[in-house]
Amino acid sequence: MAEAFDALVERLKGLPGLGRRSAERVALQLVTDERGASAALREALERAERELEACPHCGNLSQRGEACVVCTDPTRERRALCVVERIPDLRAFENSGSWRGLYHVLGGKLSPLQDRGPESIRLASLGERMAALEVEELVLALSNDVEGEATCHYIAENFLPAGREVRVSRIGFGLPSAGEIPYADAVTLRSALESRRAFE
Ligand SMILES: [Zn+2]
Repeated sequence: MAEAFDALVERLKGLPGLGRRSAERVALQLVTDERGASAALREALERAERELEACPHCGNLSQRGEACVVCTDPTRERRALCVVERIPDLRAFENSGSWRGLYHVLGGKLSPLQDRGPESIRLASLGERMAALEVEELVLALSNDVEGEATCHYIAENFLPAGREVRVSRIGFGLPSAGEIPYADAVTLRSALESRRAFE
């Protein structure tokens, strides 16, 4: 095929869920569609880039300058916080309908080996929120690898308020393997959440 077409397929192929064949199908649709699919897509992408940013409270995707839909939902349990690594993890829990509290998206994990310290992820704001919300329950939904482990310990050691009881638990034990929260189905996520264990 033409060079520009191959370049477009190559771009699309890097997206989650798109193999070469589906990337080619999407690319063909975009460059041959006469109803303006490609212009509409470009416009939507530009708008998303312009208008989306991290929620100032939890780090979820949010309309620029506004708190996200979870943080502004008055029916959410505000003293229960689920700590996740990335936004797709949060989305997976939301889609499963199994968590009614708030979230905190770290944007990564601590990694002593790769020199990723506490200031490289959203940890300081976690401490502030725990105090401001008077959090009573903290669920650590981080992967079971060395980095997830290090991050959980850091949180438990640094952010639990003195003189106030906070239930801390950890999930992930029912999941297929580390980092698979976004790919787990609703039933698996629900049972992982229900079988969370106290974190000592
Ligand atoms: Zn939020």
